[in-house]
This record gives sequence, C-alpha cells and structure tokens, in this order.
Amino acid sequence: MKWEENVRKVVPYTPGEQPQDQNVIKLNTNENPYPPAPGVMDRIAELSPERMRLYPAFPEQTQLAWALAEYYQIDREQIFIGVGSDDVLSLAFMTFFQSKRPVLFPDITYSFYDVWADLYRIPYEKKALDEQFAIRPEEYRQPNGGVIFPNPNAPTGVLMELSQVEEIVAANRDVVVIVDEAYIDFGGTSCLPLIDTYDNLLVVQTFSKSRSMAGMRIGYAMGSPRLIKYLNDVKYAVNSYTMNYAALQLGLAAVEDVTYFKECCAKIVRTRERAQEQLHRLGFTFPKSYGNFIFASHKNMPAREIFERLKENGIYVRYWDKERIDDHLRITIGTDEQMEKLYRALEKICG
Ligand SMILES: *Cc1c(COP(=O)(O)O)cnc(C)c1O
Repeated sequence: MKWEENVRKVVPYTPGEQPQDQNVIKLNTNENPYPPAPGVMDRIAELSPERMRLYPAFPEQTQLAWALAEYYQIDREQIFIGVGSDDVLSLAFMTFFQSKRPVLFPDITYSFYDVWADLYRIPYEKKALDEQFAIRPEEYRQPNGGVIFPNPNAPTGVLMELSQVEEIVAANRDVVVIVDEAYIDFGGTSCLPLIDTYDNLLVVQTFSKSRSMAGMRIGYAMGSPRLIKYLNDVKYAVNSYTMNYAALQLGLAAVEDVTYFKECCAKIVRTRERAQEQLHRLGFTFPKSYGNFIFASHKNMPAREIFERLKENGIYVRYWDKERIDDHLRITIGTDEQMEKLYRALEKICG
C-alpha cells in the first residue's frame, strides 16, 4: 500500500512468555515470586470511587513521591514517576538523547535499549563486554551522545563497582548518563548518592522486581531537579495522565512497608546463593549474580536443549537465540520450593 511508505516501522521488543497455565513454574521474566507487601491488598479495599471518577493527581505531587523522597533521602524535585521503568526509560531516551553522536551501551544488555534508539532515530554504538561479561569503563570515554547501562547488568547479573560507575559518569559530564538499577535491591550498591555531585546522572528503578508489583507498572527516575524537569516537560507533552490513581495508592502502600521489602529481598538473595551452589553442582557456569536471576551455561549440554526440555517439564526459563549469548539460560530466582523442582528437573535433563 502506498500509505505504508510513511509509516514509522519498528522491530518491537519481545518480552518473555506469559503462559496462561497457572501450573507453570515461571522463571523466565524476573518477576518476584512473593506477593507484594500485605498493606497493598488492604489498600485496595480503601480505594475511593470519588477519586476514581476524577483525573489522577500528577505523580510528582502525590504521597508516593513524598514517600519515595523520604525513603531515599532526596527532594521531591529529584523524582520522576512513570508507568514502569520502561515508560521512564523510553521518555528518557526521547528527552536526553538528542545528539547526533551515538549513545553508548553494552553489546549484551537489556534488549529494549536498541528498540527505543531505533524508534526515536537515535544513533547508537554497542560496546563489547569483556570475556567475563563485565562492562569495561574505558570503552565509555569516546565522544558520544549519552550513555546507558543497567547495574547490575541484565541479563548477565554482573555488578559494576560504584567507583567504576562514577568513573563513567565523571568521564561524561557533557551528556546524560542513565544507570538502570532495576535489580539493585538484590545486593548491589546504588549510585544514587552521586546525583548530588553529577547533575547529568539519572538513576532509574522499578517496583516490578524487588517490590513484587510488575503488574501495577510503577517505575521512577532520580536525578538533579533540572533533569527531572526536562523529563516532566516531555511527559506532559505526550500524555499528562500516565499513572493511574490505583497504582499511585498501591505503590505508596508498598513503600510504607520497609520491613517486608527488606525481608523479601533478603529471602531472594539467600535462594540465589543456594541456586548458585546447586547449578554449579549440576555442571553450570555463570558469572556471580547480583540480580534475582542467574545467567548460566552448561558444560556439555546446549542451552537451547535444556530450555526446551525444561519447558516440557512445565518450567519456563529465558533463552535468546542471539550471538554471544545463545548458549546461556537466564533463570529467575523463584521460591525455594520452585527452585527445588528446577534442580530435580535439571538432574534428570543434564545431571
Ligand atoms: C525489568 C527491567 C526493566 C523494566 O521494568 P518495568 O517493569 O518496566 O519497570 C528495565 N530495565 C531492566 C534492565 C529490566 O530488567
């Protein structure tokens, strides 16, 4: 059709499968295996029909923003809240990566980055991780239009030390550096304190992993008031009401329960440490993980085969048929019970 010449064509991001079968052991999309804080469910009953009738409040003026500011000991002007960190990151690409120079990110990383770059016609260059899947900070010293990387990186789980993160931020004062901390609560150290020193640093986090609320779609960015203002300007030029009233209320309930949050993260870290021992025993190798997942490769069985055999056994993990990572599986940390079933299945498949 003639009209198709003027259509914006993109290759979309492909998320992991969401099977309808409730019996599947779902270790493929890094969701938290535990429910959200108990206060979240209580808050549902308290939602007001009157508030539902009205347009929602602006997220930056809600109690959720206050609560996050208090939790992280920053100002409300340093926080932007969006519909999951995918919304926040997508807006950040649109807002901050307007240079003709390439945006830099790792060759093995969150596979949404090149999708957004393509969508917004942003030039980019991928920088190779080293043999151990670590980011090489020295690769991020060339002239560029911005930098983005997750820490810990996905899907590798490799954590970069704070001093190295700072090295990258400090070497790139003329562009915006985005650190995607989707998994930082599972044992890493956040670079958040650096936002007071570096007004070009944007730290992005999410409720989807450590706060067990992937279905509610809440993400946030923290940075200098100037960065946050630019993000808000673009957001209000696209869609003023991105965050719905219920999500804002339920997110607040989650932030209020600090004890539950910390215990839940600690539980996942403990299961992950045991999973690393078990997978090692079963013949897997992997970089030490700081996320709620392990990026593993088996010493004598191809990853694709293990992936398929696990699936036949009702256990879903993530596999990518992509250069450099096509012999790896990304296994999300589930409950101890789910993980025991995984080990038993793996003993049969490749033990
Ligand atoms: C899961 C994930 C996100 C997005 O999560 P949302 O559910 O959109 O908040 C962003 N970055 C990385 C690296 C992720 O793994």
